[in-house]
Amino acid sequence: MNLALLFDEDFVAPDRAVLRGRRLTHLQSVVKIVEGDTVPVGRAGGPMGTGEVVRLTDSEAELKVTLNQPPPAPLPLTLVLAMPRPKMFRRILQTCAALGVKDLWLINSYKVEKSFWQTPWLSEEQLRENLTLGLEQAKDTQMPRVQIRKLFKPFVEDELPALLANKQALVAHPGTNTPCPVHLNKPTVLCIGPEGGFTAYEVGKLEEAGCQSVHLGPRILRVETAVPVLISRLFDACL
Ligand code: SAM
Repeated sequence: MNLALLFDEDFVAPDRAVLRGRRLTHLQSVVKIVEGDTVPVGRAGGPMGTGEVVRLTDSEAELKVTLNQPPPAPLPLTLVLAMPRPKMFRRILQTCAALGVKDLWLINSYKVEKSFWQTPWLSEEQLRENLTLGLEQAKDTQMPRVQIRKLFKPFVEDELPALLANKQALVAHPGTNTPCPVHLNKPTVLCIGPEGGFTAYEVGKLEEAGCQSVHLGPRILRVETAVPVLISRLFDACL
């Protein structure tokens, strides 16, 4: 945690916030704060700054907060991700938030196992918690928006064309002819497949909607590796 993300419920006055639970434990056991220390903080959806520890007990840290810096710019990216295996999902969520993804769509695909959609990591609370961990890691305050679409065809036929309007649109698919582009600075939609890959039918539908298939070379990467590799290759801004 390189920044403590503060939510409305943490504020006890306009310039005072009280931390408990995970954030307090981290500040005590990793950062080893004492009264008088200053730690980086940010207000969810707002500016970043510092928090001076004005009161510290075993169960609470009260911070005098100064918020005067903007958060980093978001990536101009809409990430469309086939629902990953639950074991990997929370890490991928954290990675997306840390890299500056603000618009994430989780979609179904033939090779997404039905049971993946039952994971508790998809609850509102767990989505917020894992996205918070990513934002706190990277020092950002702007919470990504996550949308869930459990039917592939209606999503690709009815929603994707509007999402792609005025954007560069790509589907990462091993074995295609076009290398993944670099140095993009315009709004982009990137589709990444499941562990077993998109089927030929699905790639055809994504291409029909306007996505160009691109590859990352002959090595097939796991989804959790493909996500940061593709994003850092596409956008200089996240380096
Ligand atoms: N056997 C699957 C296939 O050939 O599509 C492998 C899927 S890979 C584990 C999961 C996803 O990561 C892929 O659907 C793709 O979106 C992305 N990916 C991984 N390696 C890639 C590569 N070398 N080129 C393009 N995309 C890649």
